[in-house]
Amino acid sequence: MARYVFLDRDGTLVRDPGYVHRISDYELLDGVADGLRRLQAAGYGLAIVTNQSGIGRGLFTEADFHAFQKHLIADLERQGVRIEATFYCPHAPEADCACRKPRPGLFEQAAKHLGADLPQCWMIGDSARDAEAAAGLQGAVWIGGAGKALPAGCLSASDFAQAAERIVETTASRVGTREG
Ligand SMILES: [Mg+2]
Ligand SMILES: [Zn+2]
Repeated sequence: MARYVFLDRDGTLVRDPGYVHRISDYELLDGVADGLRRLQAAGYGLAIVTNQSGIGRGLFTEADFHAFQKHLIADLERQGVRIEATFYCPHAPEADCACRKPRPGLFEQAAKHLGADLPQCWMIGDSARDAEAAAGLQGAVWIGGAGKALPAGCLSASDFAQAAERIVETTASRVGTREG
């Protein structure tokens, strides 16, 4: 698989009360499972790309993160969705690392470990950081981005299902054009 849709996690796949990390707070957002199945059916691999500065800030541990992640992936699997990999930045902003979105480090890891062809890939997220981080990809969809300053190649959507639909439609319409 070379074509991936990279997924922000908090506020995009799951409800985010802020630094979400407890399984008791786990709540998959509406339309996410449907949207992910739609992307899979269109031939995209799926991987999570997430900033987890709560680890670097000492708010929760790396083990907490992995436990939550395992819970999410198992829940999606039961709904017919396969997440191939998770790439995360555990650093606090002060660490000035190369992997915290909007920097492209996590996408570079995905290219290396999954063989993702970044110019064919997309990002779905709920923040300006996600939209900016996707500069080296084919495009991004910013959930809740309507009316905001969208970077080049970035679309907006009102929810996850619509974000998935926009990627599938855009990809289909480009087949056979100069970009096809
Ligand atoms: Mg988010
Ligand atoms: Zn980092």
